[in-house]
Amino acid sequence: MKKFDKIYVEITNICNLNCPFCIDTNRKKEFMSLDNFEVVISKIKNYTNLIALHIKGEPLIHPKLKHILDVCFDNNILVNITTNGILLNENIQLLSNSKSVRQINLSMHSINKSIQEDSNKIFKAVKKIHFINSNIIVSYRLWNLENIKENNNNIEILKLIGKEYNIKDIINRSQNEKFIKLDEKVFLNQDVKFDWPDLILDKISDKGKCYRIKKSYWNFGKWRCCTLLFR
Ligand code: SF4
Repeated sequence: MKKFDKIYVEITNICNLNCPFCIDTNRKKEFMSLDNFEVVISKIKNYTNLIALHIKGEPLIHPKLKHILDVCFDNNILVNITTNGILLNENIQLLSNSKSVRQINLSMHSINKSIQEDSNKIFKAVKKIHFINSNIIVSYRLWNLENIKENNNNIEILKLIGKEYNIKDIINRSQNEKFIKLDEKVFLNQDVKFDWPDLILDKISDKGKCYRIKKSYWNFGKWRCCTLLFR
């Protein structure tokens, strides 16, 4: 049994969206090099079997994503990818054929324009991914639960998800169930709005466990692996 269920590795802080709830950062915008990624993996592989390619930034825009997934496979590490879904269609083959991809998390709360069009594109891409590789877990995430009644975007997205997966009472169920199974290996995952951790804050979160990020984060040059776990 390895020490951590999962370690988050930020391979880029660049994003193709600009969500209003996302924090600004003063860090230089860049992609982690493949060399640095290999160093990170060599240092964490004895501590976990699973990494999440996301903190800030959109992992699907990383130009070396295929190589990154290959490095993970070569080191027996599985990968969860969290994406806003904008580039899911362009990455169907890559994600479906990668032997390291375990789960794709789709941040549906990031969609705020062309909701129907963008959601339908994501649904179609998910079907194609599962046609090629039915083992990949897909999680549609709506992480702004506290506003569900006032948030028209959420209601629209929930209705679209319900229609797509034939869940007729999805709006009612979403009030009481954080996790709803939509299909084989497909889930809806709701949670309250995520507050980004920040080193200037004394209090980071009431949830999860803080593994003393302020003092003991591992520093790999400019990049770091966050040891703050949210469950
Ligand atoms: S998709 Fe994620 S990383 Fe990109 S702007 Fe939105 S919240 Fe930030």
